[in-house]
Amino acid sequence: MSAVHALLRAWPADPRDECPLALWDAAGIEAATGGTASHAFRASGVEMDSRDVRPGDLFVALKGEAMDGHKFVGAAFQKGAVAALVDRPVDYPHVLVEDTTKALHDLAHAARERSSAVRVAVTGSVGKTGVKEAIFASLDRSSRGAAHRSVRSYNNHVGVPLSLARLPARARFGVFEMGMNHAGEIAPLAGHVRPDVALITTIAPVHIEHLGSEEAIADEKAQISTGLVKGGTAIIPADNVHTPRLIEHAQALGAEIVTFGRSAGADVRLLDAIPSAHGGSLVTAELGDRRVCFTVAEPGEHWIDNSLGVMAAVRAAGGDLAAAGLALAEMGGLKGRGARFDIEVPGGKALLLDESYNANPASMRATLRQLGQTPAHRRVAVLGSMGELGDFSAKFHRQLAEPLADAKIDHAILVGDEMRHLAAQLGKAAVDPLGFAPSFAHCEDSAQAIAQLEQFGLTHGDAVLVKGSNFLGLGKLVTHFTNTS
Ligand code: ATP
Ligand code: MG
Repeated sequence: MSAVHALLRAWPADPRDECPLALWDAAGIEAATGGTASHAFRASGVEMDSRDVRPGDLFVALKGEAMDGHKFVGAAFQKGAVAALVDRPVDYPHVLVEDTTKALHDLAHAARERSSAVRVAVTGSVGKTGVKEAIFASLDRSSRGAAHRSVRSYNNHVGVPLSLARLPARARFGVFEMGMNHAGEIAPLAGHVRPDVALITTIAPVHIEHLGSEEAIADEKAQISTGLVKGGTAIIPADNVHTPRLIEHAQALGAEIVTFGRSAGADVRLLDAIPSAHGGSLVTAELGDRRVCFTVAEPGEHWIDNSLGVMAAVRAAGGDLAAAGLALAEMGGLKGRGARFDIEVPGGKALLLDESYNANPASMRATLRQLGQTPAHRRVAVLGSMGELGDFSAKFHRQLAEPLADAKIDHAILVGDEMRHLAAQLGKAAVDPLGFAPSFAHCEDSAQAIAQLEQFGLTHGDAVLVKGSNFLGLGKLVTHFTNTS
């Protein structure tokens, strides 16, 4: 037994002992889960992946279809876990429960109930993580550091309860991302969080392979309002073809409705947007009888839309709009989702836009339009196949020819099997005297794409967009050209 564990054994459990800095103590976990603790302990975090454990964490040994977290209890303690939540006794401090998944849900619900934090839930076909981060940054500023959020894209049946179990008792705000691949997934997530504010970024054909139609996607996303607390607010995009459907669902669930967008009737409405000196936008918007002006550092029309949703959510949550303005002005692109790099090329510098984390028809169009609006000597698009489009895949890949032409792309490097459909379409356009097509090359994987881009030979003033679904590994191309890891 290590010295730390010997100390823990010697540490008496005292339910009166309040430790404001600890997230959970053994007695609190027992009360929440009905489990039995082997020792007294205090945990400063909750983790389910032994590789990510930080000193002071409670390690939750979850059982998945392929993995059993109980195998990694030792590894978690090596990284500094103070206790494990387990369904069988282990040789380390632990809390024994019948079912660790249920216990994680119990912890999540107890965390929700003991805190008076205003909870914001974010879903939508694209832009969830970016919008979640922007709302968090706004509310964190509003509360001088008392906001909490789900990390990364922890947005599924494990990530959401885990993020909720991490909600500090003293948080004033909590922001949670909710995602889905299949019908029926959003409502249970909303049921865990029971948000005060539920925001849908937009509806687009993402995961359409499993849902079958955009209408079905809209119906599923709308389920986020099923978890709303009484009198809670549903924040809905005003300009989407499925807006009436989303409003109908929210109305049926008795939610307060706030719309955001460019349409005349939107509650949070764009009045004006002009490009800012640093590549973002200067936005003027109307929120009811208030007019606000703010800078959005993230470039692209889609971020103008996202910023209106952020403002609507911050206002509904009781945050500070001025703080939101500052947060939006400081947002840097996230890795793989809009990070921008100046890269050294012969003659000077080229711009690389890193969108290597994910790709679907909506975000492809949004970022191609963004590339088209970027002043550049030549515009190059490295585009990887989009996943989970099922029977719609060929059509959605072919249809990218149009935004490529609109964005005046000079050269396209198309990567992966499904991109053959776009290559064929561009091939047809090239022989059509009325058509426009960039020069293009097709290749199989990121290694070949690196070679292709090297062969193309970027020079000073060029701009490159790198976008594809994560499974293609286009992040390697970004790493290669930016010398980052
Ligand atoms: P995931 O389902 O992988 O969790 P997500 O919904 O969290 O994705 P983000 O990671 O925030 O989405 O953004 C992914 C990409 O979507 C961004 O890099 C950008 O290209 C694009 N995007 C962001 N907001 C919008 C929007 N409102 N409309 C279209 N595209 C958008
Ligand atoms: Mg995400």
